[in-house]
Amino acid sequence: MFEEDFKNEIVEIRGHKIRLGENKLIKIPVDRLPTGTLIEIPVYVFNGKKEGPTILLQGGLHGDEVNSIELIRRMLIDKNYKIHRGCVIVVPLLNVFGFLNLSRDMHGKDVNRSFPGSKKGSLASRMAYYLMKELVANVDFGIDYHTGGEQRSNFPQIRYTPNDERAKKLATLFNAPFMFGSKLIPKSFRNECYKNNIPILVYEAGESLRLNELAIKKGINGTLNIFRYFDMIAKNVVIEKSIPSIEILNRKWIRAKIAGLFSSNTSNGDMVKKGQILGHIMDTYGETNFAVKAPYNGYIIAVNNFPIINMGDALFHIGKSH
Ligand SMILES: [Zn+2]
Repeated sequence: MFEEDFKNEIVEIRGHKIRLGENKLIKIPVDRLPTGTLIEIPVYVFNGKKEGPTILLQGGLHGDEVNSIELIRRMLIDKNYKIHRGCVIVVPLLNVFGFLNLSRDMHGKDVNRSFPGSKKGSLASRMAYYLMKELVANVDFGIDYHTGGEQRSNFPQIRYTPNDERAKKLATLFNAPFMFGSKLIPKSFRNECYKNNIPILVYEAGESLRLNELAIKKGINGTLNIFRYFDMIAKNVVIEKSIPSIEILNRKWIRAKIAGLFSSNTSNGDMVKKGQILGHIMDTYGETNFAVKAPYNGYIIAVNNFPIINMGDALFHIGKSH
């Protein structure tokens, strides 16, 4: 897998050439604020001395998904990108605008629904266009780091494109607590990469605007597992061992049958039994107390941490492993 036609002899981004054994920080100008301030996206390129696979690591496609940004930042601090074989292209924060505005979007538009994008479109559309043209064109595969949104916290999990055998193999190598195939969403980054024959793993862990240590650690570990498999890092880099990923075959959100105050008594990641009480929805006057039960045996792969619930709101994401 990815052991021929290596792309890292010379990596070219926005006219910058990065040769074997070179590291470079490139700032890609994307837009000016109405104040005239230039907005640039920093991209690090770590090119090893030996030819090997080239991997894109992308944080903050959704600007408020801070775990993705933090885990990439921490890997920079810990010098995890000391690559001796192959190449890693690292985008610590793609959506600078969303980050500043505490929003997943970029000027009101979701970049992850703006692919393939165009040179003259909205900011989100231009961002999508340049991401494909300047970065994805250089890589063999990528990891796109995300979190749940709107106070829904994902237990660390890898999502890959079903029927893409290479993506499934990469997901297994990453070894997050959970993994599953998930359908391609039209106009998404993963969909566009799939059309270009570039497998993308989507790492989902934690929730937006809240740092979560487990999400950060499992993300770093998984990335190092991939580096190790492709012999990209030194043998003395220590990677925490974990049990093999649980493969989720079926999953669904349990939704609120009534409105009220929601309180969970189940931890994210827990194994649950059919009929087990997972939490309660109560009215504000102490009259009703509705038990939320597990519809089948499975694992909690995401939890809603928001206590004020309307009927139909998603509460628990439950996955089945068989
Ligand atoms: Zn996201």
